[in-house]
Amino acid sequence: MKRIVILGSTGSIGRNALKVIKNLGWRALGLAANANVRELISQVREHKSAYVSVFNPAAASELKEILPRGVKLLAPGVEGLVEMATLADADVVLNAVSGSVGFAPLAAAIRASKHIALANKEPMVMAGETLMRDARRWAARIIPVDSEPSAIFQCLEGLKTDDYSPAVSRIFLTASGGAFYNHKGDLGKVRLAAALRHPTWKMGPKITVDSATLMNKGLEAIEIKNFFSVPVSKIEVLIHPQSVIHSAVELKDGSVLAQLSWPDMKLPIQYALTYPQRVGSLARPMDFFRLKKLDFVKPDFRKFPCLELAFEAARKGGAYPAVLNAANEAAVEAFLKGRILFTDIPGIVEETLGFHHSRDAAAPTLAEAVETDQWARAKAAELTGSLKRKK
Ligand code: NDP
Ligand code: MG
Repeated sequence: MKRIVILGSTGSIGRNALKVIKNLGWRALGLAANANVRELISQVREHKSAYVSVFNPAAASELKEILPRGVKLLAPGVEGLVEMATLADADVVLNAVSGSVGFAPLAAAIRASKHIALANKEPMVMAGETLMRDARRWAARIIPVDSEPSAIFQCLEGLKTDDYSPAVSRIFLTASGGAFYNHKGDLGKVRLAAALRHPTWKMGPKITVDSATLMNKGLEAIEIKNFFSVPVSKIEVLIHPQSVIHSAVELKDGSVLAQLSWPDMKLPIQYALTYPQRVGSLARPMDFFRLKKLDFVKPDFRKFPCLELAFEAARKGGAYPAVLNAANEAAVEAFLKGRILFTDIPGIVEETLGFHHSRDAAAPTLAEAVETDQWARAKAAELTGSLKRKK
């Protein structure tokens, strides 16, 4: 039995993870969220967790009043997340918060040499190369939870190296296509509710919007480049509407390895927790006769400019991916609040990238990535504000 800490337990990944942990008969030792006190308290009761934290200070005060005796409430804000991520009695830390708020707890878990199950892709976009280098230095183990990096990780596992580039000729990064892949009309007129209707996955709002713009695939390409040290030129995006092949790898000799399963995050979550062990899971058995066929389509870079912006940022390197990520987070937040149109998102990201002038292609340090994130977030918010006034 292992003891797990979940950052973001009330979210889509967090809730699935609790089902997995329950099925394994393991313990959810610590749970952290932002402000959803009601869900968190019911999780703490059900899973008999020993530690809890919420980012939002008002939610922390509320939680304090109703917490079962013996449960330790950690500090609000990033301090509590970092403490949770480094608890000495936790065997695995699942980072499943949404956005760059997961950066500091991830960096701290790495320094504490933890086994980390990583769903939170944004930090890996901001400074993935440096985080991976630190993970090697501190002997931390990072196992991807995101279904595509997990698939690639599983395909590459047999190679037993940190430098996959010489053996890998191509990575086929699959994408469902998101809410608007078959949309024929003006994307400027789409409503928020339509953007939040994902065809195959049920996820939190930020990543669902990222899937609709295809930015999610761009972020994943950068995450994969950093995770496996493979140049982005070797990554090819395939729209695969069935979401059954979670990604594939072509090796130097021409052999292609893929990982297949029905779309269900419980499987990659479980593998990231139990790695390197394989144990029975809640996954529905594959049925090829029911599946019948697998389709693949080239992505439309003109219809979904975010994908091109992400690949360009990855090619430029340096702090460009951190700028892209922060500007995207700010733009998506504004879209979720109804302040901008769906089609404004790539414009804001592109403009923010245009303000970042750097020839330095070296991987940013963690401090540089955080500084860039703050600058780009403020810049994008400013651009979003001026856009609103013009309307
Ligand atoms: P959700 O929006 O569903 O959940 C986010 C979780 O993070 C919630 O528990 C939320 O708490 C918590 N949270 C948000 N902000 C903070 C904060 N400041 N401090 C502490 N906790 C916070 O997101 P998802 O589960 O969909 O996604 C989580 C991460 O996993 C993202 O990075 C996403 O890209 C990645 N991912 C998700 C997949 C999925 O299937 N959902 C697939 C692959 C990757 P509260 O409820 O209180 O707001
Ligand atoms: Mg994914």
